[in-house]
Amino acid sequence: MNKTTVLVTGGAGFIGSHLCDRLLSEGFRVICLDNLITGSLHNLRRSSGCNRFIFKKHNLEKYIAIKGKLDFVLHFASLASPADYLKFPIQTLNAGSLATYTTLDLAKKKRARYILASTSEVYGDPLVHPQREEYWGNVNPVGVRSCYDESKRFAEALTMAYHRVHKLNTSIIRIFNTYGPRMRINDGRAVPNFIHQALNNRPLSVYGRGRQTRSFCYIDDLIEGILRIMRSDKIGPLNLGNPKEFTILRLAKLVLKLTAGKGGITFKPLPQDDPRQRCPDITLVKKLFNWQPAIELGEGLKMTIEWFSKRKRFP
Ligand code: UDP
Repeated sequence: MNKTTVLVTGGAGFIGSHLCDRLLSEGFRVICLDNLITGSLHNLRRSSGCNRFIFKKHNLEKYIAIKGKLDFVLHFASLASPADYLKFPIQTLNAGSLATYTTLDLAKKKRARYILASTSEVYGDPLVHPQREEYWGNVNPVGVRSCYDESKRFAEALTMAYHRVHKLNTSIIRIFNTYGPRMRINDGRAVPNFIHQALNNRPLSVYGRGRQTRSFCYIDDLIEGILRIMRSDKIGPLNLGNPKEFTILRLAKLVLKLTAGKGGITFKPLPQDDPRQRCPDITLVKKLFNWQPAIELGEGLKMTIEWFSKRKRFP
């Protein structure tokens, strides 16, 4: 049996739970930690059936002792939706700071490879387009999104300090907008909001004029990229995301078409510091790992809509 053990923080969340499923299917032993502030045990129904899986409810602001060896520590615990981090700014800052410290220290003790789930938010409202890893970003340090942006930037700095001072084997992955089954219906992000509204024949809430852009990566593509980086010795930072850019208005229209939603579109005020454009330059991961997304937005949305349509009565 493969005794390679991977610790996944935030393993009950959207990305974390898909990661646990995939790691188990590849034969790894998986220890999943989550404080369940936004994660859910429902997401772990598949993983829980496996005897190589352990779940512990834990708040990573506090130290945790793990018995036995750990080969990898994947730090994915974070509040990642703007609506969530606006509601819980201090917990968001702690996930990027204290929890990153706790997990780096654990990786150091176990001599495990450490992977930090960072974010395209480190680029802020970018002045360089598309965003390459060398770009340092344009972030408002005191704005409403700063709890997320700055704590992730701090997390990256702390990870590099452990790499330089303790020679820890680390990697930083900057994850761009990702979507798919298991996003929370009420998590406030564009994809779940639009799908939920469309399935209930309500108007889709487009913020501003919908001219801001994002690029959307289907969850399975992202997980494949994460595994390739995990198995390598690359330090990063490395962008992972879909380089096809869409305006939010175009996304809304596509969701309406695929759902046959009858509520149309309603325009609402643009949130403060909402980035105007965002699109990853994935030249580096393409070159290093021969990785690029395979699933088109329309195809990924269909799978996501199907999953959501079974849950449309949820609040
Ligand atoms: N957005 C929108 N309507 C919504 C939710 C989001 O128009 O109901 C916009 C939001 O203002 C942003 C984009 O969609 O410009 C992506 O937002 P999301 O919260 O999904 O992720 P972000 O990239 O901002 O972290």
